[in-house]
Amino acid sequence: MEFNGVNFDTYFKNYPNAEGYYGRYGGAYISEELKQAMEEINEAYFTICKSRKFISELRKIRKEFQGRPTPISHLERLSTKIGNVQLYVKREDLNHTGAHKLNHCMGEALLAKYMGKKKVIAETGAGQHGVALATAAAYFGLECDIYMGSVDIKKQAPNVARMKILGANVIEVTEGLATLKEAVDAAFAAYSREYKDAIYCIGSVVGPHPFPMMVRDFQSVVGIEAREQFVEMTGELPDAVVACVGGGSNAMGMFSGFLNYPVDIYGIEPLGRGTALGDHAASLQYGEEGIMHGFNSIMLKDENGDPAPVYSVASGLDYPSSGPEHAFLHDLGRVKYDVVNDEETIDAFFELSRMEGIIPAIESSHAVAYGIKLAKQMKKGSILICLSGRGDKDMDYIIENYGIR
Ligand SMILES: *Cc1c(COP(=O)(O)O)cnc(C)c1O
Repeated sequence: MEFNGVNFDTYFKNYPNAEGYYGRYGGAYISEELKQAMEEINEAYFTICKSRKFISELRKIRKEFQGRPTPISHLERLSTKIGNVQLYVKREDLNHTGAHKLNHCMGEALLAKYMGKKKVIAETGAGQHGVALATAAAYFGLECDIYMGSVDIKKQAPNVARMKILGANVIEVTEGLATLKEAVDAAFAAYSREYKDAIYCIGSVVGPHPFPMMVRDFQSVVGIEAREQFVEMTGELPDAVVACVGGGSNAMGMFSGFLNYPVDIYGIEPLGRGTALGDHAASLQYGEEGIMHGFNSIMLKDENGDPAPVYSVASGLDYPSSGPEHAFLHDLGRVKYDVVNDEETIDAFFELSRMEGIIPAIESSHAVAYGIKLAKQMKKGSILICLSGRGDKDMDYIIENYGIR
């Protein structure tokens, strides 16, 4: 299949290129010292992760520890209520720890083990990536340092407790606004000092090459499983696939299974409270080309050209950029990127809970909300939504801020 001059039959061979570029986006904009460390990870990735031993160990972990394959559920009551379009969800909420993030954390930690590293390092904002990585570190017996802003530590007490119970060191970052950005800087600084013994584990398809590629490849299990399961269930491909986009890892995982098939693909960003800068985190919709956190992509900038403050009701989506591959697919037009706001998201959260007995994460509720909208526009056919995680973590927040609807 060809799309705007890009042949999708050979897409994964050609993108990213050897320097980590998807068209004009990606690359590695980092210090010389870190470049060396990234080079080491890149080489290890191509030798170790392609080896039969690594692949079979990862496969066993996915089956026996994570509980994969996760099922696809047909949303029969919701579909009937809306009309003739059939809605389905890929249940990453049933993956161990309740979201898709463990898919790449187990891959990254397994790579750390094969490379002989003793420690994994990462930052976390809402704590979801920290919990997934702490889980992987406990599984492999690796040390785990999680950098987290003091503001987030206060806000995310249950996830801080989880990380500590799992044996991770939660390192408080007090600089600046003491949130995610400062935590990223502190984690990178720690990695520059410790890269001989440690490996940095990024939380999405972002950061310098090779991370966007590695995380995509580890997450592609979602899309590959989903395509096979969907065809087995229905005898056909879905007409459309939908996923929410923060950094973009659950979406890239899902999309990987469908890029080369005649399926419409939608990536959904959070419109938050509205279109004004600072009220949303829809970087692909409203952003421009720029470099942050070591990669070139499309980002939201403030008046000085720095990453702009962003907002979303879903803490997992409030990032001022998206992975470089999303920027590329956006420009190509292969994936259509659209937005839903907080209100539509909260409605979808309750709709899925009430109609289907599935409480979705607020992040995933963005994809559900768009799937419902799309189903109303389409006269017939099927839509497969990536349900990236479960909503247990969000229940207190929803009750406090929105009440029971
Ligand atoms: C972190 C998170 C996301 C956003 O991350 P991506 O890298 O964009 O997938 C989405 N859903 C859930 C449940 C998350 O925890």
